[in-house]
Amino acid sequence: MKRLLVVEDNRITGNLIRNRIAAALPEVQVDWAQSLAETLRFLDRPQPEAVYFAALLDYVLPDAPGGEVIDAVTAAGVPSVVFTANMFSPAERERLWRKAIVDYVIKDEQSLNYVVGLLARLEKNPATKVLVVDDSRFFRVVLTRLLRVHRYQVFEAADGEAGLAVLARHPDVRLVITDCMMPKMDGFTFIRRLRRDHPRDRLAVLGLASEREPDTGARLLKTGADDFISKKHFLTEEFYCRVHQALENLERIETIRRLATTDPLTGLYNRRHFYDSAAHLVAAARRNRTPVACAMIDIDHFKRINDHWGHQVGDAALKHVAGVLAGHFRRGADLLARTGGEEFSVLICGLAPEAAAEQCERLRRRLADTPFPLPDGTKLQITASIGLCTRNVGDLDSLLRHADGLLYEAKRAGRNRLCSDLPVA
Ligand code: GH3
Ligand code: MG
Ligand code: MG
Repeated sequence: MKRLLVVEDNRITGNLIRNRIAAALPEVQVDWAQSLAETLRFLDRPQPEAVYFAALLDYVLPDAPGGEVIDAVTAAGVPSVVFTANMFSPAERERLWRKAIVDYVIKDEQSLNYVVGLLARLEKNPATKVLVVDDSRFFRVVLTRLLRVHRYQVFEAADGEAGLAVLARHPDVRLVITDCMMPKMDGFTFIRRLRRDHPRDRLAVLGLASEREPDTGARLLKTGADDFISKKHFLTEEFYCRVHQALENLERIETIRRLATTDPLTGLYNRRHFYDSAAHLVAAARRNRTPVACAMIDIDHFKRINDHWGHQVGDAALKHVAGVLAGHFRRGADLLARTGGEEFSVLICGLAPEAAAEQCERLRRRLADTPFPLPDGTKLQITASIGLCTRNVGDLDSLLRHADGLLYEAKRAGRNRLCSDLPVA
């Protein structure tokens, strides 16, 4: 259970926060304290930092008017967001940041949205890998500590070469923060090299610009960095904003990619993704002389379901079939997609022709043996016809043409059957 500690003495504000969090982060459990004394009671357990993934802290409390609760909670190792009505002077702000808080946010109607977004981020940051590359140990320590306050998984390297080695071990690093001037391999070379395997839509790069050369920032951006931060005028608050922005950009791209490649009804890949990916897989299989087979699967008399039960039940039937297909083929090894209305395609990689045919035949039986529950409580048998081309006859188009021809044969021969290019035993 993910727990959040909310400290707020005002009942109305406290309730507002609690309701907003319940709506936006339903899986998060809120413990609400209204004073420092109550906060200490919540923290009085072994490993409070393992219990609470974050705390949202009011600054002024009846029994702690000077922000004392912040020290208490950060000392317990719980990442703390200060949510306050106070406007702070630059000096006070600086003091607040030195307490290793996650962020401080001025209370108003809009900022609660920001806070909820921040909490959502804190919750998933432990799964986000960040690499810090700098030959200055001091700077590495500073950045690493700041990132750990936000619960990121942080790796360090002292130069570009060491950075590439970390990326080779952890190809799922999402963000690289790199200095420019380093021995062995400088930041520019490092960025150029890492971009060969880590495009900008998968990995974000923040450069650290020293002010000596005025064109450093521009050079970083042109080399492949997404953004840069000044080392001389380093501000914690700005650093966190740039880190968030870089990661949010990646998430937006991921959302777009997911929407562009999946079918919203069934959650399977769509036709576009199938054609893009399958073309590569077929070409690679030819090069590597590994087997590849392509099956087209078309539901039998699907129109009757629509005609008799309506479009909604038809949709549910499509989801049902998609579920059976997804449970049957090997995730990662086979490429499965909804390529038409009630037609699915699968590219089976690395299986000998007989094994691919066997797998399709088992699928046909499995589908026929998994009845679809109708709204009136009765069950309907849904079957499909399958055309399977087991030889890599050329490019993807020829493979699909062959599979389509065999599917047509399966339909003509009476449906609910598999037709392949293998000789009938
Ligand atoms: P056959 O056995 O020859 O394949 O017959 P069939 O009825 O399955 O094939 P046909 O191509 O005649 O009809 C397919 C139907 O699938 C027509 C279309 O309205 C329906 N369909 C396509 N996409 C969807 C969808 O997303 N939802 C629903 N409910 N129906 C769909
Ligand atoms: Mg059809
Ligand atoms: Mg059909």
